[in-house]
Amino acid sequence: MHTVSVSGAVACHVCPVRYFMEQEIARGESPRSIVAKQIAAHFGGKLDSGAIWGEVQAVLPEAAEEHRTLLEEWLARCRATDWRSATETEVAIASARLGIHGVVDRIFADEPYFAIVRSSEAPAAGIYGTDRIRVACYAACMEDLLGVPVRAGMVEYVPSGAARLCVPQPRDRRAALRAIRMATEINAGAMPRKPVRAPCETCPLQEHCSFGGRRLSDLW
Ligand code: SF4
Repeated sequence: MHTVSVSGAVACHVCPVRYFMEQEIARGESPRSIVAKQIAAHFGGKLDSGAIWGEVQAVLPEAAEEHRTLLEEWLARCRATDWRSATETEVAIASARLGIHGVVDRIFADEPYFAIVRSSEAPAAGIYGTDRIRVACYAACMEDLLGVPVRAGMVEYVPSGAARLCVPQPRDRRAALRAIRMATEINAGAMPRKPVRAPCETCPLQEHCSFGGRRLSDLW
């Protein structure tokens, strides 16, 4: 069975047109994400900037001084937080029930059983809506993996040094189901529709999008 990635489902929730377009554009991991994940790999232990910077350079040979600056700024904030140690990191998981798969950043021996690592600043309060959907998807995958109810996950906003508990609500799970269904239909050949509240103003694909500027056909 062809499953949808968790990141694809979240992209589809934001805008199905964007999801459709991104299927055609190879998108690598951003330097911010690499720095955040490498810091998070040391949570619960010594946050040694020299050692972590060496690892960032090993993963991203083109890492530049600006990324070292980010690393130092983020580490300074992260040192003020008490982080949990993971039993495993970057674990591939899936839910056949929901038809999704993904790679969860950190898993733990007890509740909450997992954390997702973000390279964005934390919101002033709570959790971003897209991160709530991510957690809802990963919670379902973790339930399938562990065979126990998984009601919550952590969201670790590395640039802010903030770890927040996310307990997905029914509306988050409904949004996740809608997004997975849409992504599955698009994968099967359906044409995406622009949602009423598409975030075109901040969309990086705006100038290439037939709804936001240039036509889709300009891309290929
Ligand atoms: S420009 Fe608007 S409609 Fe087009 S992909 Fe971006 S958010 Fe979606």
